[in-house]
Amino acid sequence: MVFDGRYSKETWYKGLKIFCWLIKLLLHLFAVSSFLFHRFSVAYSFLLCIFVAQQSNMKVSYKTFNLPFKYPFTISKGTKTHQPTLIVELEHFGFKGYGEAPAIAYYNIPIEKMVEDLERKKIFVEKFAFSDPERYWHYLHHLFPANSFLVCALDMAGWDLYGKIKRKQLHALWNLNTDESPLTDYTIGIDSIDKMLEKMKEKPWPIYKVKVGVEGDIEMVAALRKHTNAVLRVDANAGWTLEQALMKIPLLKELGVEMIEQPLAKDNWEGMKLLYEKSPLPLFADESCVAESDVEKCADHFHGINIKLTKCSGITPARRMINRAKELDMQVMVGCMNESSVGTAAIAQLAPLLDVVDMDGPLLLSEDIAKGVTFDQGKILYNELPGLGIEINW
Ligand code: MG
Repeated sequence: MVFDGRYSKETWYKGLKIFCWLIKLLLHLFAVSSFLFHRFSVAYSFLLCIFVAQQSNMKVSYKTFNLPFKYPFTISKGTKTHQPTLIVELEHFGFKGYGEAPAIAYYNIPIEKMVEDLERKKIFVEKFAFSDPERYWHYLHHLFPANSFLVCALDMAGWDLYGKIKRKQLHALWNLNTDESPLTDYTIGIDSIDKMLEKMKEKPWPIYKVKVGVEGDIEMVAALRKHTNAVLRVDANAGWTLEQALMKIPLLKELGVEMIEQPLAKDNWEGMKLLYEKSPLPLFADESCVAESDVEKCADHFHGINIKLTKCSGITPARRMINRAKELDMQVMVGCMNESSVGTAAIAQLAPLLDVVDMDGPLLLSEDIAKGVTFDQGKILYNELPGLGIEINW
């Protein structure tokens, strides 16, 4: 290969980093020798050390948003008109990485808690000598043991930053083939049958995920089925009893439904064991599968798991969960929590590893924070931008 006299951005980054560390080392030696030999002011030497150390630290900043839904979004647990979300930015040597964590009332980590924790430990978040995102996740996991949502946002930003430094999209860094990404579904929230039909007709799509778990839900699915041949999936959001599930799932199979998400309460393991043995349709855990340790528990109770980046604390643990679920012979889905295009782009990077993907947040919201997530009839259209593959708009 002929050297054309130009260095890549990545090479400059590595060089700059080594240079900063050398300067830091020299200044530390200088400070120590100053102190030992009383040649210079100790305070002056330490100030210099701190100044240089700051230049190689990361900078973290954040913004919060309250993004409106196109339609009020109703599931078996309630209705939302807006999605509060936190966006973090990590800046390192001129590169900027972004991550997101939406607040979900069910998991009891509001935006205020994420902001409070981040403000309290911001200096430690910035202090980490960033070299790879997996090491950063371990550090964050111990820094915020009770705030998986905040860890997710920072982990995602770390991965975006890393991809930008390497000038590659994450799927390329992981050697994944995007042709293998499954089509994403489009979610129809609970509403009057007329309104649900209106939503479906407004968005012709090859796969719909229908929220159920309320009285009259079989009639809703039957009404939709009369107007579409698309693949239908249902999500009960823990809204059924075992008896209801045993009665409803065969009816849903007759209506051509493909899979059922979280039929029973999250900790009804005994009920799930029985349902798992009798269900004619594959069952996926969502509320029952939050963290990495839940994957093992779901084996022999569910046919698959629905990983969500926010609840499991980011891309790093999600990749391990995908591997473990496959080892246990379970199907793997990654779902969204109504993230903007920032969090949704992270799901797109993992999509080639998945059997099922639900990443329609930007389609359900009427405002967005970034550009870069686009679809053609459910097919994810990847671009050439590095990292998560997004351009932020703020
Ligand atoms: Mg779900």
